[in-house]
Amino acid sequence: MSAVNDERSIGGVPLLYGFTTLNAMEVAVWCKHCLAWHHHRLVGPPNVLSYYEAHCYARPNWHDRGYWIEPTSTRMAEVFKESKRARVWEARRLAAGKTHPSIRRKQAAPEPQPLPRPPEKPTKTPRKPRRKAYGPRWPTTYPQVPEEPEEA
Ligand SMILES: [Zn+2]
Repeated sequence: MSAVNDERSIGGVPLLYGFTTLNAMEVAVWCKHCLAWHHHRLVGPPNVLSYYEAHCYARPNWHDRGYWIEPTSTRMAEVFKESKRARVWEARRLAAGKTHPSIRRKQAAPEPQPLPRPPEKPTKTPRKPRRKAYGPRWPTTYPQVPEEPEEA
């Protein structure tokens, strides 16, 4: 178990980064126990940390508890090559609850991390200068008609 020790967790339940896929309703997590990507249907808004039942086939001891997923804006495809996936024979061993030096090496490798994003610029569009307020569009004064001199 020493290969997997720098784990983030909440209340003893692992906290994994969620990566986006082509399916907007889905989130993908890298699982270093199974050496596989687990895909989940989003159970909440894509910016909210939520609890998911584990999709693990390697069945680590927290299998029954599941894990937290913290969604990020990083696409799975962007970090896919950093995931050391199990080969078929390694997956068979993992499923049987066994391990192997090559499996332990992959489990100890750094995990895919969300990519740093530049801070989002405020999307406020510059407001158009307000046009000068017009005055009333109708005359408010009436022409004064000069009084006629009184007839003598
Ligand atoms: Zn797993």
